Amino acid sequence: MSVRALIVAIDGPSGAGKGTVARTLATRLRYRHIDTGAMYRAVAWKAVHDRLDLQNGDVIAALAACAAFDLEGRVRIDGHDVTDAIRTPEMDAAAAIVARHSAVRRALVARQRAYGADGGVVMEGRDIGTVVFPTADVKIYLDATPEERARRRASDSAHALGRGAEAIDSVARALEARDHADRTRAVSPLTVAPDALYIDTTGQPIERVVEQSLNAVTRALERVEAR
Ligand code: C5P
Repeated sequence: MSVRALIVAIDGPSGAGKGTVARTLATRLRYRHIDTGAMYRAVAWKAVHDRLDLQNGDVIAALAACAAFDLEGRVRIDGHDVTDAIRTPEMDAAAAIVARHSAVRRALVARQRAYGADGGVVMEGRDIGTVVFPTADVKIYLDATPEERARRRASDSAHALGRGAEAIDSVARALEARDHADRTRAVSPLTVAPDALYIDTTGQPIERVVEQSLNAVTRALERVEAR
């Protein structure tokens, strides 16, 4: 297919399948893939590394505005390879804390808009279709039941977690707390954009979700080319 430089926004809670879908779409379309959750996580990691106060929004926002990010392939911030270090329960919690500050969000949203300015990007997060790119060409919201999301997260090899029923239980509790924080925070809470394609991925093979998403992109391309 002839691929114009669209902006594809993928939002949803953790464990809904955003990462796999966004990566696969980006590869198929030859677009860049930007995981904005990794940006919040990397900022949280650097703040802890530099012994900054996570509760101080202005200090963390200054870090977020100036940091050098590398988001394609390995995740780096200011030269530190944090690909594995940001996927821990501690960083899950720290990222959710820094993401609550409006000044931090302003700084990261500005950088996300710059990454997507020329299109040709699949950007995943919580607020991409609602705040970062409200006029994105394609908006997809992926969801799944809390049980399924906890199961996926517990078996995700990128996350440093234990195995077995106890691990799933503690993942489920932590996920629930973080989801609640993401949905109820004052700035940019996780919500479904009214014009997003909503896909419940529970019990669906990921290939089918990718196909549905690719179909949405194809329809958008046809719309753009008909203009
Ligand atoms: O997607 P991921 O779980 O890696 O995101 C980590 C945290 O970063 C989320 O819990 C959420 O609080 C925050 N986040 C956000 N907005 C985004 C992406 C992530 O607030 N666009």
